[in-house]
Formats: sequence, structure tokens, C-alpha cells
Amino acid sequence: MTVDVVDLARRIAAGERRALAQGITLVESHRDDDQRDAARLLELVAARTGGAIRVGLSGTPGVGKSTFIEALGSRLLASGNKVAVLAIDPSSPTTGGSILGDKTRMEMLATNAAAFVRPSPSGGALGGVASKTREALLLCEAAGYDVVIVETVGTGQNEHAVSAVTDTFVLLVAPGGGDDLQGQKRGVLELVDVVVVHKADGPRGDEAQKTAQYYRVAGHLLHHGRAWQPPVVCASSLERAGLDDVWAQVLAHRAATASTRAQRRAAQAERWLWLCVESELLARFKTAASVQAALPAVIDDVRAERVSPGRAAQRLVDALLRR
Ligand code: GDP
Repeated sequence: MTVDVVDLARRIAAGERRALAQGITLVESHRDDDQRDAARLLELVAARTGGAIRVGLSGTPGVGKSTFIEALGSRLLASGNKVAVLAIDPSSPTTGGSILGDKTRMEMLATNAAAFVRPSPSGGALGGVASKTREALLLCEAAGYDVVIVETVGTGQNEHAVSAVTDTFVLLVAPGGGDDLQGQKRGVLELVDVVVVHKADGPRGDEAQKTAQYYRVAGHLLHHGRAWQPPVVCASSLERAGLDDVWAQVLAHRAATASTRAQRRAAQAERWLWLCVESELLARFKTAASVQAALPAVIDDVRAERVSPGRAAQRLVDALLRR
């Protein structure tokens, strides 16, 4: 596509949702000329970025993420905020299909003029988080959204990438889900700034309180000695309960980390650089003619155990670099 980047930047800055959507499509494009335009676009709007409350939100499928974002989002809109939601839809590792499905999510937000909802296919990069999420987030800020929520399905890896682009990371858990705090979950809990025990309603109210206590203890142990201990809030989107509490904790975390935010964002930018390098290298590796040519024989060798996978990987990378 040929775009008048200066005009696009102007329309994004004027808060035009269509222009924002177009801008995000541009940054998500893999075409070289689009990438150049996207880089120019980001430079043009750079001065308008950085101002939003950047919230990461994760949880297993079905924990109620989209319902929660709708409920919280409506409150934020009602108090005058402009809310953007970037929903990362990781493809299923086994089927390659969409996990979030085709259902219309966050219908109310999607049709509200002060909100912007954008599902992004992850393309499998960066542990499922769209490699262009950071750029999309910057464009949302340039368009005047003062709250940007980056939503992702929890996989253990996604959460790391989401916390690499947001200021406050919120984890939604279901009542009774506290038993499987092993392995990856532990790593995720180390990243978390606010835990929400969701669906704390009806017969699950008591169980929710127990789960909350469990996460309080776990959070306390994992964050021992740190300035911020992740608070645990019980909430129900159906009953509209606890939502103000959650937001109050997001703001409290924001206030508590205000003096280190610039530092955190600088570290994030550096981390993002490396995530992008990895993703870019892998993409080029997989499509390089030299690798494609060498691949069938190398795979045969590895499968027949004539060559070790490590040695074979070196051969393929050598093939890429010689191109
Ligand atoms: P997501 O996959 O995490 O985005 O989850 P959804 O928002 O699609 O919700 C999954 C299911 O949980 C739906 O059937 C919702 O109606 C239900 N649900 C969402 N929020 C609540 C809640 O606060 N309480 C209860 N009891 N159910 C909820």
C-alpha cells in the first residue's frame, strides 16, 4: 500500500480511529516498504507517546478476561478515560487455529467512540505476543488513548512479553485455581503487580477468599523484600464487584513506581530490542533460500541420528549467514 505517512500521522494525532487502525496495519505489515513507512510514522508521532497508563492483563482461557475488560472499560469510559485494548490472540500451538475464536469480544467497548479494540494475530512470534504490540501501543497513545490494556492468554511465556511493554501487569485467576502454582506459574507470579481472583460471586465467593489468601501468601514470598507486594483483589464482572478496587490498585502501583517508571521503560525498550532481533532473525532464517535449500537434507540427517541437532543447527545458521 502507498500511504501518505504525514497525513496518517496527522489523522492519528487527531484521534481518528480509522487512521489508528490503518497505522497499526502498517506496523504489522511484513513488507519492506510498509516497514519503512511504519518507522517514519512512529518517528512522526513519537512526541505524543508515553502518556498512557499501560496495563498488561493475562489469564487462562475462560477466566473472564474479555468480560472483565468490558466491565472495567465501561467504568473507565464513564469517568472520562479513552480506553484502547490490544487483544493478542495466540494461535493454538497444536491446531494453529485461533484460541480466542471468532466470537465478537468486548462488543460494548468495540462500538464505543471513546474506545478502541484491536485483536492482533500473534503470528507465533515472541512466545505468542504479537511482535508489533509495542508499536501498536505507541500509536494508541499518539491517538490520545490514556489507558491502553494489552490482553493476552496466559501461556507462561506470553506474560513475559506483555510485561515487557506495560507498566502494570494484572493476572486474572479463577477461584480454586491456586493449586497449580508450580513451574511456569511461579515465574509468572514474579512478574505480577496485581492479582485478581475473578468470578468471586455466587457459590464461589468463599472459595475466592481462600484462593485470594493463597495468592497473598505466594505473592508475599515471591516478592519478599521488594518495594511493591502484589495486592490480591476479589472481583466479579457479572456482579460488577471489586472493579473499582482493581483499578485503585493499578493506580496505587503506578504511584508507587512513578520514580522508577522511566528506568523501567528504558529497560523494556532494550529488552524489546532483543525480542525483536530474535523474532526478525527467526523469520529471516525460516524464509531464506539458502536455509530452505539445506533444510531437507539436514532434517534427514537429524532424524536418522547421523548428525546431532546442535551441529545441524550450526550448519543451518552458517547457511543463512553465507547467503
Ligand atoms: P476469556 O476467555 O478469559 O476472555 O473469558 P470470557 O470473558 O469469554 O468469559 C468466559 C466465561 O466466564 C463466560 O461464560 C462468562 O459469562 C463467564 N464470566 C465472565 N465473568 C464472570 C464473572 O464475573 N462471574 C462469573 N460467574 N462468570 C463470569
